Amino acid sequence: MFEVIFEDEETGARAGKLKLKDRTLETPGFLPVATKADVKLVSPDELNQMGVQGVIANAFVLYLRPGIEVIEAAGGIHKFMGWNGIIFSDSGGFQILNKDFLLKVNDNSVTFKSPFDGTKHEFTPEKCEDIQMKLGSDVAMTLDDCPSYGSDYDNILNSTKRTIGWAERFKNAHKNDSQSVFGIVQGGVFKDLRENCAKALVQMDFDGYAIGGLCIGEPKDVMHEVIGWTASLLPPKKPRYLMGVGSPEDMLEAISKGVDIFDSVFPTRNARHNTVYTKRGKINIGKEKFKNDFGPIDEGCECYTCKRFSLAYVNHLLREHEYLGMRLATIHNLHFLVNLMRMAREAIMDEDFINFKKEFLRDYMNS
Ligand SMILES: [Zn+2]
Repeated sequence: MFEVIFEDEETGARAGKLKLKDRTLETPGFLPVATKADVKLVSPDELNQMGVQGVIANAFVLYLRPGIEVIEAAGGIHKFMGWNGIIFSDSGGFQILNKDFLLKVNDNSVTFKSPFDGTKHEFTPEKCEDIQMKLGSDVAMTLDDCPSYGSDYDNILNSTKRTIGWAERFKNAHKNDSQSVFGIVQGGVFKDLRENCAKALVQMDFDGYAIGGLCIGEPKDVMHEVIGWTASLLPPKKPRYLMGVGSPEDMLEAISKGVDIFDSVFPTRNARHNTVYTKRGKINIGKEKFKNDFGPIDEGCECYTCKRFSLAYVNHLLREHEYLGMRLATIHNLHFLVNLMRMAREAIMDEDFINFKKEFLRDYMNS
């Protein structure tokens, strides 16, 4: 159940709460990506310490390995991965329609080869629903057809129609109220297609709505425009989830357009490649110039890494390719985004979101 606690009148930014059984995600909220049932390099206890309230796993990847039957036998994905917070499961549409795996797609199903062993698999919306139900995630995502950026109008029209048809079949197959289902709005960068898709999905009455198919190469102003069109068509009382967007400036922009939930591999992937977020923008902490910097990565940051270690130490570990360096950078980045969401939430409740956004971006973008 989703509750909007406060809405900023000037922008449409919302502070809310998604409550699923005894699990809660305060919004705006960020979901670290746990594709293989783990957030790379950090444990569930560390996620708890950072204030992470939910993660997103990938049903397609877990179906291939270790296999859904293993996770069912473990008593569901929460028990399997030792995480008692909220778990979203992504359908895998984004991955299986990737040209590296895709063998065939038509309105009935998608056939793809496993990236692990090349074996052939067929997914229908019904099968995708069944897999996510068996996983036992709190929120299942419908199977969608996400076209690549730059596809022409007719291609995107077809994939949008397919996304709508698949969402309906997914919804019809879903008989169990213990799991919420979010529909994914596609439509590329075409306003009429986004509108048609949003309207069709809203008629089906999902528990929440995701905006998919963005942050795949389109210019930022186009992305922001599409988020604005789409969010404005979604029901005000349902949660809105922007998939795959994880840079602070884009997240704040999306929040100001009424988006509630985010996920992205950016903070974890960037950390493993030496890039961290700080209040003064992104920096590469592997650089020689930080060799003798004995302050924290980000002055005033309350994360475990910044409270305990110097930038010089993390710099040394990363230059030596030590796992601990990647872990410490990951902890800092996840904490940074979760904390950004927490600060945005507080600013919305204090009716100060516009100022907060302006001040954050002034420091973050001007470095
Ligand atoms: Zn930190």
